[in-house]
Amino acid sequence: MSASNCAPEGWTPSSWRAKPIKQSPAYEDPKAVSQAVRELQRLPPIVHQHEILRLKQHLAAVARGDAFLLQGGDCAELFDYCQPAAIESKIKLLLQMSLVLVWGADKPVVRIGRMAGQYAKPRSSPNETLPDGRTVPSFRGDILNGFELDQRELDPQRLVRAYHHSAATLNYVRAAIASGIADLHRPLDWGLGHVRDPALKAKYSEAVTFLTDMLRFMHTIGADKNDKLDTVDLFTSHEALVLEYEEPMTRLLPSSHGRSSSDGSAVSSPPLAYYDTSAHFLWIGDRTRQVDHAHVEFFRGLANPVGVKVGPTTPPEDLLTILRALNPSCEPGKVTLITRYGAARVRGLLPAHIRAVEGSEYKRCVVWQCDPMHGNTQTTTCGIKTRHFSDILAELRETLMVHAEEGSYMGGVHLELTGDAVTECLGGSENLDEDDLSTNYTSFCDPRLNEKQALEMAFLIADHHRT
Ligand code: PEP
Ligand code: MN
Repeated sequence: MSASNCAPEGWTPSSWRAKPIKQSPAYEDPKAVSQAVRELQRLPPIVHQHEILRLKQHLAAVARGDAFLLQGGDCAELFDYCQPAAIESKIKLLLQMSLVLVWGADKPVVRIGRMAGQYAKPRSSPNETLPDGRTVPSFRGDILNGFELDQRELDPQRLVRAYHHSAATLNYVRAAIASGIADLHRPLDWGLGHVRDPALKAKYSEAVTFLTDMLRFMHTIGADKNDKLDTVDLFTSHEALVLEYEEPMTRLLPSSHGRSSSDGSAVSSPPLAYYDTSAHFLWIGDRTRQVDHAHVEFFRGLANPVGVKVGPTTPPEDLLTILRALNPSCEPGKVTLITRYGAARVRGLLPAHIRAVEGSEYKRCVVWQCDPMHGNTQTTTCGIKTRHFSDILAELRETLMVHAEEGSYMGGVHLELTGDAVTECLGGSENLDEDDLSTNYTSFCDPRLNEKQALEMAFLIADHHRT
């Protein structure tokens, strides 16, 4: 540590630039990039460091097994989703799912949206071949280029547009929550009409009746007046892929207000740390977590809680190298390991990952979160990218079981979902089949659970905890 701040030895917000990097945007005009970075540097933080620290405390409770983490949102958030209806439906869905999980897990639920900044996508190929044979640059997320074919060139001004869309989205999230969108006194629409299986419907109805009765009861006895039912915490997150954006958003800030003497004069200055103020929680994707590369280097200096995707290509020993780089002081809740193997592969791969971590100084220190989406993507015979509800559920159940066997705690789920009635994933209670996919397939990247499938997933996780 250096004397003036809590940054690790040799680290600066730009030290990642000296490392090899994957998925980096090769901008044609470095001057335009520098100008965008300067603009970002003088803009205020999108989130406050005290909120970031509060989330870290919540995640420490998850690591201990005392809370559950729900994280969800679009695969690729578009600037165009910065609209009241789309934002509201996502907040409501996350809130409803979290209530079901509170009921099921009998624990507080920490909510993180994959939103207000989830604008960058790693791609397997820099180019895409169109059905007519033309080759164009791949769409890499609104922060880098546009989906429309005439907007595929990288545009550095999109970095600044990302900031403004992120800020506007979060502003509306805050306003909607402060004005009572999450007011649990209001009846919620649980929309169970589509559930055809009578046994499932009975189970879901039991949960809804319980939750509705409990909320009414708390209202009757006035227990909701000075409690937290009027407002809820919703934190934001995204994959910190584009370091040209994350670097200028990273600021050296005091971690507390400092102590003051009885006459009000400050007697000690609070410790300073680097916070990436673009979101509360950032994660490193499966394609950019090489231990000696730029993304791990950048993340090593951040005071935010951070996530790392873990998959079939993660050697168990790499996990410890990454944890020692990102969390040398073994701070509980600092790192979330987001596992994503595919339903058929969890059992073969997860135990070695759990043993490497839980058998080390990081025992009960990390949050184990299951991402049952990214190992279960398939392409239909017509070439449509989809995921089957039953595969997603199977990976979740297998992950829960392996953690139970290993004596560790599966502390959360990471889902790609939307509050809209899309038809992108197969199955679920509506029993969507391949012919249904074309009805309302609007994702520009991976297929998401629609609002019914997502809520159903929450019911099934809750049910697992209760039985
Ligand atoms: C994602 O979360 O959208 C993603 C690209 O995941 P992964 O890095 O795990 O492939
Ligand atoms: Mn995705």
